[in-house]
Amino acid sequence: MVLTRLLGAALVTGASQGIGKAIAMRLAFDGYKVALNDLAHKREQLEAVAEDIDQKFGSGTFVIPADVSQEEQVKQMISSTSKALDGLDVIVANAGIAGPFKPIADISMEEWDQVHQVNIRGLFMCYKWAAKEMIARGSQGRIIGASSTAGKQGVPNAAPYVASKFGIRGLTQTAALELGKYGITVNAYAPGPIETPMIEDILKDPSTLPQALNSLPSSAKVGQPEDIASIVSYLASKEAHYITGQTICVNAGMYFD
Ligand code: NAD
Repeated sequence: MVLTRLLGAALVTGASQGIGKAIAMRLAFDGYKVALNDLAHKREQLEAVAEDIDQKFGSGTFVIPADVSQEEQVKQMISSTSKALDGLDVIVANAGIAGPFKPIADISMEEWDQVHQVNIRGLFMCYKWAAKEMIARGSQGRIIGASSTAGKQGVPNAAPYVASKFGIRGLTQTAALELGKYGITVNAYAPGPIETPMIEDILKDPSTLPQALNSLPSSAKVGQPEDIASIVSYLASKEAHYITGQTICVNAGMYFD
């Protein structure tokens, strides 16, 4: 039984697949009790991830479907996670959507708003309610968000996504400055192209495929979700107490900052 090495409680949003699932698995491997969030219609997938974690690591899981773009649901998600897992030490605000791949002139305001509802508003609410919970419990916690290399460098035909991922960097820096006095660090990861359902959907759509491929430098390599999970594992660790406000590029041959 591995319960003696439990590090605390971690919540991962968008954890039914892709990068979120890999992060949840990795944090469980590290010794965290893990709360798994995704949209309500992904409950079965979430339960399958929870079962996998319980079987492999026996560290304890909690499945909490919620839409991160709805404040009441985010508030409930944080408070019930904290109750179920006896605290909240790490939140990984990973849920995100890609949105339309179109030139700026063709993007409707509904399409713009849809991306921002999830990617920036949703992430902001996760930061906000996690910070309140960590402060109230005196937890020197870790808040970690999902940006992108598209949050460091513009990408043609992806304006809503790019703007949301740039916004996450600003929010991460600001939250880090505000929360440092509580011992809470706030960082983000900025992946290059990672093999997940999100990228598979982009690449199989003939209307987006040429644009998506043209926006990648020829040196770019596709990574695996575990490549992101390992940096999150570090950012969540006690050792990472001296790093905050950073948005860390994780890619090979694509973008260097
Ligand atoms: P994915 O589409 O495979 O998984 C994202 C998950 O988020 C899905 O399970 C989805 O249901 C969930 N989700 C969407 N909206 C939600 C909401 N409102 N509430 C709760 N859950 C919601 O994507 P992924 O590739 O694993 O990406 C994870 C994160 O990493 C995203 O923020 C994405 O923008 C970012 N990212 C991905 C890549 C990549 O190449 N895959 C690159 C850079 C950044």
